[in-house]
Amino acid sequence: MRGKSSNYFYEQRQMFLENSTNNQQPRGWIEVVCGSMFSGKTEELIRRLKRAKIAKQRVEIFKPAIDVRYDEEDVVSHDANKIRSTPVTSSSNILLLANDVDVIGIDEAQFFDEELVSVCNELANRGIRVIVAGLDMDFKGQPFGPMPALMATAEYVTKVHAICMRCGDLAHISHRTVSGEKLVMLGETESYEPLCRSCFNKAMNEQENSPENQKQ
Ligand code: ZN
Repeated sequence: MRGKSSNYFYEQRQMFLENSTNNQQPRGWIEVVCGSMFSGKTEELIRRLKRAKIAKQRVEIFKPAIDVRYDEEDVVSHDANKIRSTPVTSSSNILLLANDVDVIGIDEAQFFDEELVSVCNELANRGIRVIVAGLDMDFKGQPFGPMPALMATAEYVTKVHAICMRCGDLAHISHRTVSGEKLVMLGETESYEPLCRSCFNKAMNEQENSPENQKQ
């Protein structure tokens, strides 16, 4: 009875990737935390990294140098729950800087080059736990940068959701409320709203049917 019970809890525990770090031998893997803006991706990344730190694991955090919305050296989520990070200009720099670490966190991964995929796999092959957070889609609903390939090659993928600002359903697309084709726009809160599929489609139709020259 007792044995059966502990086996049950072991199996339950294995279902949750953040609890599966107690390996007998050093073994690396990739976790991806993806979703739209305002879905709590960075908060989830920070939560996982802080737990590793508490366990005295050596943690390094990287983000693309392009992401300078807040402090240069902090991964900062919107609720000011911050953690120190190193801005890097290209993903290959992470390989050079990742020495003597158990866990590597990468935030805003969608802004990195495609090489990030092989970099993360190389790190995991070295025995490092790699946790990557990023937008899985751009404001048009298209897969964003290296994220799709990362999600395909990762052991674990967690998709977190925001709340649709128009209907209150779960949202998975970051709809941009201002015009312009530039993919990278920082300064979020005013320019984006999380929307569900149906509200996003409605918003796109409205935009198509109201050309700039008809606007008051
Ligand atoms: Zn909606």
